[in-house]
Amino acid sequence: MTFELVTVPCLEDNYAFIVHEAETNTTLLVDVPEADPIRAALSERGWTLTHVLFTHHHWDHVDGWNDLRKTHSAITIGAQADEYRLPALDMAINDGDTIQIGSEICQVFDVSGHTVGHIAVYMPTAKIVFTADSIMALGCGRLFEGTPAQMWESLCKLMSLPKDTLVCSGHEYTTGNAKFAITVDPDNIALRSRMDEIQEKRAKNIPTIPSLLSEELATNPFLRADDHNIRKTLGMLDESDAQVFARIRQLKDNF
Ligand code: FE
Ligand code: ZN
Repeated sequence: MTFELVTVPCLEDNYAFIVHEAETNTTLLVDVPEADPIRAALSERGWTLTHVLFTHHHWDHVDGWNDLRKTHSAITIGAQADEYRLPALDMAINDGDTIQIGSEICQVFDVSGHTVGHIAVYMPTAKIVFTADSIMALGCGRLFEGTPAQMWESLCKLMSLPKDTLVCSGHEYTTGNAKFAITVDPDNIALRSRMDEIQEKRAKNIPTIPSLLSEELATNPFLRADDHNIRKTLGMLDESDAQVFARIRQLKDNF
């Protein structure tokens, strides 16, 4: 079975994702920042929406549904923990659940930190994970509701996925994230060459999302709390990974 993945830029810097499987006539939308670009992406391809997944309750990930549902219907899926603050759900899901989307048995992860109740969904055959505001390209979501320890635990779950997994995150924040990353990981050659690629893409208005998990593991400082050079730069050779992560998050908040 083959899945087609479409990245849909929405609002200022949000992304929605559409995954389509022709054989089963399945079309999954992940997050609904706004209706019109998603409508256009679907109608261009002649795809009929079947499922909508909400990663977390923030308005810029769900508010477009009220408009989109006027013209499209779908099975709505979101975290049971967030059911009270998400649009009406047909499927309320939890960490460790599996859900079938077309021919794919997807795995559900609680990735609390940015919000409590944020979920990520992993498609093992398609090799795609929808991370929204947990792992982001060269970054991670700000901690609005969860603790650093919670976010670190969430990131660790995603870091253990196969390295060739495509990471579909929620925002085009990569240029700003890169400027910060190089301050805590200045000698990282892979980061420097990725920064050049990012600059080239953004100059042509090409999304830097999705990215490969292998790239994130090599260059995203939020996933590299165990890295000796980063620890040396921060003067934190003996602290735990979670403590180093917390410091990196704090430095980014004040960057
Ligand atoms: Fe958010
Ligand atoms: Zn967001």
